[in-house]
Amino acid sequence: MNNYSNALRKHHLKATPQRLEIANTLASYGHINIDNLYEILRKKFNSISLATIYKNINIMLENSFIQEVKIPHEKSVYELSKEAHSHLVCDKCGAIEDITLDLSQLSSTTATNTHFKIDKIDLVFSGICQKCQTL
Ligand SMILES: [Zn+2]
Ligand SMILES: [Zn+2]
Repeated sequence: MNNYSNALRKHHLKATPQRLEIANTLASYGHINIDNLYEILRKKFNSISLATIYKNINIMLENSFIQEVKIPHEKSVYELSKEAHSHLVCDKCGAIEDITLDLSQLSSTTATNTHFKIDKIDLVFSGICQKCQTL
């Protein structure tokens, strides 16, 4: 298990036991929604409330320690901050995979055609993952 104390401090966050557990959970699950995170954290901190988890998630988001992934028609999932990437979401099992794509061409063509000043692209591909295709 990784120790995220220093990483948290680098993001100006106090390394509380709850935040360390959130960091470790995100590291092992990759992407997780708040309900599942709550289920996991409750096993360790039996008096923790959903509100406390939201509060921690929000401050960790504000300080860019973690990032939110918005999945259409689903609850947002959270992951440890990393380089910009896109997501593949399986409609059958809900698995979420990271994929790094060069979107510079798409971005510049879109900006040229629409005169829109693009800050960010959130791309989610949905379909059936390899594992579910073989079931
Ligand atoms: Zn699947
Ligand atoms: Zn991701």
